[in-house]
Amino acid sequence: MDTLRQNDPAEIIAADKAHVWHHMMQHKHLETTDPQIIVEGKGLRVWDITGKEHIDAVAGGVWTVNVGYGRTEIADAVRDALVTMNYFAGSKGSIAGARFSQRLVEKMPGLARVYLANSGSEANEKAFKMVRQIAHKHHGGRKHKILYRNRDYHGTTVACLSAGGQHERNAQYGPMAPGFVEVPHCLEYRAADQGAPTENYGEWAADQIEQVILREGPDSVGALCLEPITAGGGIIVPPTGYWDKVQDICARHNVLLHIDEVVCGMGRTGTWFGYQQFGVKPDIVTMAKGVASGYAAISCCVTTEDVFQQFTDASDPMALFRDISTFGGCISGPVAALENMDILEREGLLKNSEEMGAWFKGQLEGLMDKHEVAGDVRGMGLFAGVELVSDRETKQPADEAKVQQVVAHCLKNGVIIGATNRSVPGYNNTLVFAPALIATKDDLGRVVEAVDAALGDVFA
Ligand code: PLP
Repeated sequence: MDTLRQNDPAEIIAADKAHVWHHMMQHKHLETTDPQIIVEGKGLRVWDITGKEHIDAVAGGVWTVNVGYGRTEIADAVRDALVTMNYFAGSKGSIAGARFSQRLVEKMPGLARVYLANSGSEANEKAFKMVRQIAHKHHGGRKHKILYRNRDYHGTTVACLSAGGQHERNAQYGPMAPGFVEVPHCLEYRAADQGAPTENYGEWAADQIEQVILREGPDSVGALCLEPITAGGGIIVPPTGYWDKVQDICARHNVLLHIDEVVCGMGRTGTWFGYQQFGVKPDIVTMAKGVASGYAAISCCVTTEDVFQQFTDASDPMALFRDISTFGGCISGPVAALENMDILEREGLLKNSEEMGAWFKGQLEGLMDKHEVAGDVRGMGLFAGVELVSDRETKQPADEAKVQQVVAHCLKNGVIIGATNRSVPGYNNTLVFAPALIATKDDLGRVVEAVDAALGDVFA
């Protein structure tokens, strides 16, 4: 590998251990081990600094590299763009920004305007600010509350954590921002824990949202922010009946529906966006990870024309959206995003996600016949989770340390998988899979083999 010929691994590891503060890392571990430094990627595979090859079943660790590694067409397009024009503030326009925005909303009937930023958290902050500003402009500031769902995640900033239903992430970072109110999750597998009826769970779970709106006062609730499929909170696919009722509740109480597509966007579930699987009509959609598959930092907050028009009153000097994002003006973002969309279309990756996802889910379900610990398999497209339980009857979550051992066992065998981790107290027990959308049966078969072996050894 060229990267290894050009760099001395020992020197890089020493520099890393001395100076890098890794994300989500207990650094004490690095006193006895080395960090895993990933140096090259091609397709679905990555190589670390020791030269070891891995199948990456989580698209860059956090479900980002939807089109896979080594896409020279994206790199070339970004390079060509940068030497012509790399940056100008987002108050001006760019060719790529215009082309990408037009192409994006073509995939999102009912949506019209694209606001560019850098990260999923930032896109969600934009959405929250839009909701708050609409409340001030039209409702005397009163309709400012934002509802979020237990087990959902919307980002790492204090406002996003305030809208965060994964309480291990919020803990010790308080006080949280006011005006964010939690509604219950919609995980049917755990309906009994919520005291829910066994029939019509989807409608029941949606009803819980309406109860919160009525309790808070509909005139105080501006928006409901939901992941289409809860990702890091345990791969929760909302049950039948849920979305229709949620849509109806939002319409009746004049509550904007904000869908966070940071994970599910750009083909992950088999459609361009996760909400499209359920026939939802959102007012605001945020997205990030798969937008440029990690080839550039870009996120978007996309709105209906109706939302946009609420910021266009020229007689009011405060009516415009008074928000700015320095790097939202980076031209590399929309250039990479356009190429990314080209690849998704040219290679039929949405269809591949749907077809390979269905096959993969079937294989994971097969593991339930062999391993008592595999309690539930959930997912859609190339996005899947296996919830591990120590007792199928009581559904007692499997020991977190053992869940992490399964991840480590797979890694040792050259397969990178994920698990819910330090997110939902007591429920860090779901293995997660979100490979690049180019995955084949061969690749996915190897992932299943590795998980099979790990479950067998760890829970022997
Ligand atoms: N929304 C969801 C659903 C996410 O999973 C994430 C990150 O994992 C975010 C928002 C935040 O995105 P970022 O890490 O780019 O700020």
